[in-house]
Amino acid sequence: MSKLKTILSKDKLSRQDIIYLLSLENKSEIEELFTHANNLTKKVLGQNVYLRGLIEFSNICNRNCKYCGIRKSNSEVERYTMEMQEIQEAARWTYQQGFGSLVLQSGERSDPEFLKFVDNILQNVKELSNDRLGVTMSVGEQSLETYNRWYESGAHRYLLRVETTNADLYQKIHPSCHSLKERIEALDRIQKSGYQVGTGVMIGLPGQTIQDLADDIIFMEEKDIDMIGMGPYIPHINTPLNKTVKNFDAKKQLQLALKMIAVTRIYLPDVNIASTTAYGALSEKGKGQALQCGANVIMPNLTPRKYQENYKLYENKPAFLASYKRDFDKLKDEIKATGKTIGFNKWGDSPHYFKRTGESRNQFQA
Ligand code: SAM
Repeated sequence: MSKLKTILSKDKLSRQDIIYLLSLENKSEIEELFTHANNLTKKVLGQNVYLRGLIEFSNICNRNCKYCGIRKSNSEVERYTMEMQEIQEAARWTYQQGFGSLVLQSGERSDPEFLKFVDNILQNVKELSNDRLGVTMSVGEQSLETYNRWYESGAHRYLLRVETTNADLYQKIHPSCHSLKERIEALDRIQKSGYQVGTGVMIGLPGQTIQDLADDIIFMEEKDIDMIGMGPYIPHINTPLNKTVKNFDAKKQLQLALKMIAVTRIYLPDVNIASTTAYGALSEKGKGQALQCGANVIMPNLTPRKYQENYKLYENKPAFLASYKRDFDKLKDEIKATGKTIGFNKWGDSPHYFKRTGESRNQFQA
């Protein structure tokens, strides 16, 4: 039996196995890895892909992450916050199309006015959908009180990427006032508040090694993470980190990021894994490829077109949205081409969450 087959037949991968799989270069072996991860996804989680409509409701941010296009110091960006009515419109459309869930994402703020605005969004979304739209938050590091407050208002999943679990690398890609320790403590608060907890990393950061990525995957197991939203790092021209990038190779970056999904799926079979926007930024086929090597969630971007140019986290971020309907029709075809089905009107929650907490699902969540 080949070394690859021996590793793939194991019940549990070791750190060395993870490193071996992430280091694969041979095309047919990579295909074998992806097929294995895809079959495992279908076996454990079924054929469904779950939809989360992504609304990037504000790009105002107090942070200065060195990789991010909406960092506070980027004065080239026109700052916006969507009107409540615009958010409601996007949410209503999502609900009517049977998406099941929304993701509310923004830059990071913690002032009382912002916290209340988010609270109002949640209450409005719940009201317009008779409590049926599930909501994932992605609004950064907040206090336990805030996490509790938004949970009470109806959010039930929270995504906070740890970005990298290598403390030195974390420090290199952030200003000195950010800390990995604080990021991890925020994740702990999210779990304490009762959310399904999501995290993830950027893949292919300057200075990041395969060993770092293996440690990231092991971290997600140790933290009992329920959902994973990770993606390739893509340079943004107006950021300090961009200056350290030499010869960015989109093809290689995408392949590494796809391997990361496949290996994470094999290591953590019962978590939700998203095919995130950055996969689509590196190749038109990227998001579909992610769905065929372990991802089971997709987050169509519903931010109105007029704002998308100003939520450019990295270069080439898909910002088309000719019309919600036309783009959704295209996405339906893309999902069909992967051989999967869409889990309409379902929350599609992470089975890992129910195992971790012993909670049972209701019918809408199934
Ligand atoms: N402020 C919230 C937070 O920090 O969690 C949510 C918004 S933040 C813009 C969302 C994610 O975008 C980050 O966690 C980061 O991983 C990703 N991101 C930012 N810049 C990126 C880049 N250049 N390439 C890839 N991903 C990037």
